[in-house]
Formats: sequence, C-alpha cells, structure tokens
Amino acid sequence: MIKFDRVSKRYPNGKDALRRINFELPAGQLTFLTGHSGAGKSTLLKLIMMIERPTQGQVFVEGQNLNGFSTRQVPFLRRKIGMVHQNHQLLFDRSVFDNVALPLVIAGFARADIGKRVRAALDKVGLLNKEKLNPIMLSGGEQQRVGIARAVVNKPPLLLADEPTGNLDPALSAEIMDLFHDFARVGVAVLIATHDLSLIARHRHRLLTLREGRLIHDGEDDDHGA
Ligand code: ADP
Ligand code: ADP
Repeated sequence: MIKFDRVSKRYPNGKDALRRINFELPAGQLTFLTGHSGAGKSTLLKLIMMIERPTQGQVFVEGQNLNGFSTRQVPFLRRKIGMVHQNHQLLFDRSVFDNVALPLVIAGFARADIGKRVRAALDKVGLLNKEKLNPIMLSGGEQQRVGIARAVVNKPPLLLADEPTGNLDPALSAEIMDLFHDFARVGVAVLIATHDLSLIARHRHRLLTLREGRLIHDGEDDDHGA
C-alpha cells in the first residue's frame, strides 16, 4: 500500500527531517508512528500526501512512484488518502451531514450517491442520529468521530491520522482506536502518528519509531526502541 525506499527530506534551511527511511505498510495493517516532537513524523505524513517532496529516495502509494506525479495529479492521490487531524478541522457553519459530505461534493459525486455514502460513514462511527446537528453541539469525542467519518466517506484504501486522540480522555481515545481497528480489519492501511505512549501500550500492533529523522525501530510494541 505504502513503500518508502531510502527516503530523505532536507528542508531548504538545511534541516534534515528524514534520513534514509525504509518501510512498507501493507493493506489491512494498523501501524503507529512515534517519536519525540521534531523527530520527523509530520514530515513523513506530508511526503505521503505530497504536501512535501523527498530530497532523495522514493515514496510509493499503491505501487505508484510519487516522484513521477505532477502537481495536477496530486488531487487524485489525495482521494486515496483519508486524513484525520487532532483538531478535526470541522466547519461550524454547517451540519454534521454537510461536513462529512464535503469531500464527495468536491470530487463531484451525484447527490443521491452522496446521501447514501454519508449515511454509511456516519453509521460506521455511530452518529447516524446526529446528521442534522451542527458539530458545535457535539462532544469532543463525537466531533472527532465526525472527522473520521469525513476521512473515510469516499472509502480510501489508506487512512492517516496525526495525533487523533490528542484532545481526548482515555475512554474516548479507546473508542477512536476501536474505530481505526475496524477500518484495518476491512483492509484499510492505517497509519497513526502519536507521541501518546499510553495509547500505543494498550494495543498490539506494529510500531515505527523515529528519532532525529532516523527510523530506529520497526516492530511489535515490546520495545519502543527509545
Ligand atoms: P514531528 O512531527 O515529529 O514533530 P516534524 O516532521 O514536524 O517532526 O519536524 C522534523 C524536523 O524538521 C524538526 O526539526 C522541524 O523543526 C523541522 N521542520 C519541519 N518543517 C520544516 C520546514 N518547513 N522548514 C524547515 N524545517 C522544518
Ligand atoms: P525488488 O524486490 O525487485 O527491489 P521492490 O520490492 O522494490 O522490488 O518492488 C518493486 C516495485 O513494486 C516497486 O518499484 C513498486 O512500484 C512496487 N511495490 C513493491 N512493494 C510495494 C508496496 N508495499 N507499496 C507500493 N508499491 C510497492
């Protein structure tokens, strides 16, 4: 699903954010990406989204080398990727339904199709009865679930999350993690960037650890490599 082949990223100011990173993420696997602040987690996600380009090496998404992608092709890449943010970036000037529908509207789906898909996504995250509400009326955990519904509404094969439980208490974090596991179970490749070690400790899964731009650990969570 994703492959990094000797990927390095040096920012224009000379900062080496990633150094010769190699890993593969298969479909249907949930993987944590961890490391201290500044270790390179966001940069790694940005390379997958083509918000940044690598200085060296190659990133593959579904077998396609992103180095060969033009700026014009970036929207097609992003349709394959659902992105969940810490602050979920919901729009408070419209309903839950319209927030989740947004990616489909942008992609030009037909109206009838949009209704069906939005309700399927809201059903998955347990919010079918809240579609007409403004997200401002929902709890933090519910808002994050709306963000997840929006990320998966066009059924992307890849789901990226950047500190998805950053603002949530442990019980709500566990709920969100259960949802991510559900997506992995149906074949989605899920990559969760977090420095919340308690979240990581509660689940059995693969863990990638970055330190100063190097991948210093890739394996099960018996040892965080830190
Ligand atoms: P993390 O997400 O793990 O906190 P980042 O990928 O944001 O790490 O940052 C990795 C390193 O690259 C840090 O030292 C950061 O200061 C630096 N960095 C990030 N973005 C830029 C940028 N646009 N220009 C220069 N340096 C950057
Ligand atoms: P080799 O074993 O000959 O080095 P690779 O494992 O590098 O071959 O893979 C060959 C090609 O298959 C890559 O260039 C890439 O296009 C594709 N590929 C392999 N694994 C993946 C993956 N996990 N995700 C996406 N593309 C992949």
